[in-house]
Amino acid sequence: MNSYSGALLIACVGFWPLSATAQQRLPIIDMHMHVSRVVLDADGKLIPVPCDPQPCQGTSAAATSPEDVRRMTLEAMDRYNIVKGLLSGDNLTDLYAWVDAAPGRFIAGPVVWKPGEPSVEQLRPEYAAGRLAAMGEIGTQYNGISPNDPLLDPYFALAEELDLPVLIHTLGFGAHLPGFRVAAGNPVLLESALVRHPKLRLYVENTGYPFLSEIIAMMYQYPQLHGDLSTITWIIPRETFHDYLRGLVRAGLGKRLMFGSDQMQWPETIGRAIEAIESADFLSPEQKRDIFYNNAARFLGLGEP
Ligand SMILES: [Zn+2]
Repeated sequence: MNSYSGALLIACVGFWPLSATAQQRLPIIDMHMHVSRVVLDADGKLIPVPCDPQPCQGTSAAATSPEDVRRMTLEAMDRYNIVKGLLSGDNLTDLYAWVDAAPGRFIAGPVVWKPGEPSVEQLRPEYAAGRLAAMGEIGTQYNGISPNDPLLDPYFALAEELDLPVLIHTLGFGAHLPGFRVAAGNPVLLESALVRHPKLRLYVENTGYPFLSEIIAMMYQYPQLHGDLSTITWIIPRETFHDYLRGLVRAGLGKRLMFGSDQMQWPETIGRAIEAIESADFLSPEQKRDIFYNNAARFLGLGEP
């Protein structure tokens, strides 16, 4: 029995309080969390937990309201001993409400779907006041805008100036929305930002999945570049995720991969994401600790664990 199924058994049997379970678990940093509304489908029904590739059957969603999303996310953080979450939201009022609900737990960043919304001028005072401490998720790929577009340069410049961690969606897939362009997701397109801003603390969602060769080239050439392991821990077939993770670790990148859940409106994915890493039997316990905590602690400047 691995530690995850042990924890689950304890939770299900119910004789051991969850706080005791959390205390037994080593700390985790989640580098990819979202404040989320609950978006419904065209028939007004809850959208199941998504899966790719289609056709596939997602499991039914547990959260029915934004309050559910927040409560269940915080419960999962307690259960799995997630001590920090990099949390992004496109509505700053909602984002700050989450931060206030769990003091010290979140590092807040603005979602940027389109350049100018919000603008760098609007963001600067939020950083100065300490309300924001990260940049992103930059999700402009959802509008077909690639990371080498000059419209994004002011965001990278501000992040470099303020030494902010930056999360960007630059990979081969995303939610099935009309403006999304695969062609804008090749990690090689990050090169101009990395050259222009050599101190940029940039990390790429899903470590560029499925562009394995391209992200290896970029991470070899730009040692500051990191990647998260987030949506692919639960949205694609488990074996495919493990193949990609194995490829990254075999290439020697195990010290630059960071756990994330990308839970969105489905907080039940947090546990699934953790289990996907824990079940990777080709990783040593030390390699798993690097992914769950050590690499993010170093990247965020929390000090060597
Ligand atoms: Zn995301």
